[in-house]
Amino acid sequence: MANQQVLVLGAGQLARMMSLAGAPLNIDITAFDVESEKVVHPLTGHVIGHGLNNAIAQADVITAEFEHIPHSILDMCEKSGKFKPSTQAIKAGGDRRIEKQLLDDANVANAKYAVITNRAEFDAAITYVGMPMVLKTALGGYDGKGQWRLKQLDQVDAIWQEMEQSLINTPYQAIVAEEFVSFDREVSLIGARRTNGEVVVYPLAENIHVDGVLSLSTAIDEPKLQEQAKEMFTAVADKLNYVGVLALEFFDVNGQLLVNEIAPRVHNSGHWTQQGAEVCQFENHLRAVCDLPLGDTSLIRPTAMMNILGLDRLPESLLAIPNCHIHWYGKEKRAGRKMGHINVCAKSSEQLNTTLSKLASILPAEHFPALHQR
Ligand code: ATP
Ligand code: MG
Repeated sequence: MANQQVLVLGAGQLARMMSLAGAPLNIDITAFDVESEKVVHPLTGHVIGHGLNNAIAQADVITAEFEHIPHSILDMCEKSGKFKPSTQAIKAGGDRRIEKQLLDDANVANAKYAVITNRAEFDAAITYVGMPMVLKTALGGYDGKGQWRLKQLDQVDAIWQEMEQSLINTPYQAIVAEEFVSFDREVSLIGARRTNGEVVVYPLAENIHVDGVLSLSTAIDEPKLQEQAKEMFTAVADKLNYVGVLALEFFDVNGQLLVNEIAPRVHNSGHWTQQGAEVCQFENHLRAVCDLPLGDTSLIRPTAMMNILGLDRLPESLLAIPNCHIHWYGKEKRAGRKMGHINVCAKSSEQLNTTLSKLASILPAEHFPALHQR
């Protein structure tokens, strides 16, 4: 196995964790910070190399840690023939219109929807989709941002004014109107696909979002649901001829899954795999894009992950709790920002519950909301 150079588009925590996972396999990561347009070291943030063109030329493989990447940059990477999964997959993750079409083309169940670009289409969507509905910007949404909930007709004008601003301010913007799904819970499936079509998936994670932001993910062992999710995962991954780690977020409605959205990358709800699986999602993504054999995805012990939101310090006593693993991202503190996460493992689900309750007594609800809602 030779040393490989992987260039990651995006220089946040996901590139950082890919770098940490790649090092033992002799896979070196450089990261392209899309905002500063600089090629940086994913751990130190120091500028390295001689710009993007050079980094593209030097890389064996190019991949991405997020989907909101300018198309001009994606096209440059695609031209090099080194980009994986594919620009088509990244565009599907970054544009809800393309994403919804993909889900329909792959024949996987998803919430009824309509695309809106003007007021007449909004009115038509209210009739076709029905109320309540969730309205989402096609471009640029994340962590529940760029969304509206329409529950009654007297909200229509006010919501239209805000949506119209978004349509005016962002080129190629549209709004996707979705039926409101009364789900029992949200789950996600993270898996990897190799060039030869081989697919591996991790156990499903049950996710609790608070105000649109993921707070707590717990790996679950539910064979029937797992089978359903894997089938949908494979349909989407095959449709895209996908290479790398892909995430599917689902609504669970009485045991029937609907795909909410996809993420063409490693995903926050898969961070538990760092301690709960033999090979974590970051390593498996690198293995897939470097066309190496995929690693074991099975659950080795009950594990949960909680995001550290808007906090840059934790009590040292946390480290004294067995099977409690802290992962900081080295980011500047901002209210509600994902600053790091904590993986908690246990020998049994009961023990995991006990540890989570203990943590709830130490960690504040403001920064760990779902931990206090269990
Ligand atoms: P992410 O950070 O996961 O990319 P996002 O901003 O792209 O989030 P979604 O995942 O589409 O947005 O929505 C955020 C949350 O809003 C979902 O996790 C879910 O709780 C809720 N939600 C989204 N769509 C619907 C829907 N159609 N019906 C009911 N709830 C919804
Ligand atoms: Mg989501």
